[in-house]
Amino acid sequence: MKTTIRLYDTYEGKMREFVPLSGNEVDIYYCGPTVYNYVHLGNFRPTITFDLLTRFLREEGYDVKCVSNYTDIDDKIIRESLKEGKTEKELSQFYIEAYEDCLSSLNVLPLYRHPKASEYIDNMVDFISSLMEEGHAYKGKDDIYFSVRSVPEYGHLSKQKIEDLESGKRIEVDSLKKDPLDFVLWKLTDDEGIKFDTSIGKGRPGWHTECVVMANDVFKKKMIDIHGGGFDLKFPHHENEIAQSEALNHTRLANFWMHVGFLLTDGVKMSKSLGNSILAKDVLQRHSGNAVRLFFYQSHYRAPVNYTEENLNACDKTISRYHLFLTKGKHRLELANMEKAGKLIEEDYVAFLSALSNDLNTANALTVVDRLVKEGNALLAKKDADLTRLQDILATLDRLFLVLGFSLPVAPLSEEDRKNLEAYNKARAEKDYATSDRLRPLLMEKGLL
Ligand code: AMP
Ligand code: ZN
Repeated sequence: MKTTIRLYDTYEGKMREFVPLSGNEVDIYYCGPTVYNYVHLGNFRPTITFDLLTRFLREEGYDVKCVSNYTDIDDKIIRESLKEGKTEKELSQFYIEAYEDCLSSLNVLPLYRHPKASEYIDNMVDFISSLMEEGHAYKGKDDIYFSVRSVPEYGHLSKQKIEDLESGKRIEVDSLKKDPLDFVLWKLTDDEGIKFDTSIGKGRPGWHTECVVMANDVFKKKMIDIHGGGFDLKFPHHENEIAQSEALNHTRLANFWMHVGFLLTDGVKMSKSLGNSILAKDVLQRHSGNAVRLFFYQSHYRAPVNYTEENLNACDKTISRYHLFLTKGKHRLELANMEKAGKLIEEDYVAFLSALSNDLNTANALTVVDRLVKEGNALLAKKDADLTRLQDILATLDRLFLVLGFSLPVAPLSEEDRKNLEAYNKARAEKDYATSDRLRPLLMEKGLL
């Protein structure tokens, strides 16, 4: 029987039971990076959160398709490529590769698709043309705009009234638009930046259109199960995606809207523009991908979390502790010729899944891991350990680590290790401390003790 899953839906502003829209299939789209420089660690918080959600839902038996885009058309990309004397494509490709290196260090599952905005121009043009035909978009003096007033639901996601938004905007009234809240769908331009000669004019798409079109087209659906990103995307990005979807498809684009809390540096949002970024690639030089995952899992995904090196160092230590237990435990079984997989410990497995089913309560899920590692280490300390229980603990931990996305492989014992371990154990049993003292550092260095 499947666990009842509850997720916090920002659109409704409450926890709701998650049930896929169609059978067993779950479609997830989360907004990916704008690829104009190396991304910071905060950009990977949504990545890790939605990777965990994918793994958890698959563990629950769902058929999950997870998609994230690359924003490779954006004014920041144009500015940067002019500065570096590269084409936008060259520049974005370079940073996409750098991002993908981090994805593999973090053991992120392959995505169903990783669309680039530049590959969906025709679809965007069709989408914008339809919005214009239906009276939701208009050509201003310069660009093509979306008419926010044409959608009565506008503001639902970010819980803002159109009137309040309007009064906030009044000071910067832009005479080129009919309404200050209207946003650009297509920038009509002949500047030096990347542009496309299309039926709606020469120019390039606005960011809000890129994502709604890719989400629709990749899944071939007007409404998907889950759409997400960081908290900063709630308004205006996701509000504007919803507005376009409501206008054309009469749906809110996603059944669940999920937003991930900020990674902070000294209490302030980590952000490229604020100059307080800690680059993910640098963090991953100093810490393992497992440690970075653990660092995020220790807090709830919606809560803000402060970046500190001390915390990440502590996570590295915890991960080493997990790995050492797996190593010792698996080798103990190997020496006893009991490598056959154990069975899942039902109570712990259920407790773990039930923590995750409560809006991905990773901190509670980790308490199950810690309990098992503690029990396992206590077992290993005994001479006459119950090795069947050890088998079950290891089988259960392997499964939980798979869901958490930790990669903790244990190499089988080499002939030499096996001989040394046996000699060490024999020496200890016979109180031959000279031999055991000689072998100990050798074995410890290999993590066998
Ligand atoms: P961007 O390249 O700025 O569009 O960001 C890519 C993704 O990272 C989006 O989902 C953002 O919401 C998310 N993001 C950006 N900064 C942070 C941060 N400090 N903490 C968590 N997520 C962030
Ligand atoms: Zn987006």
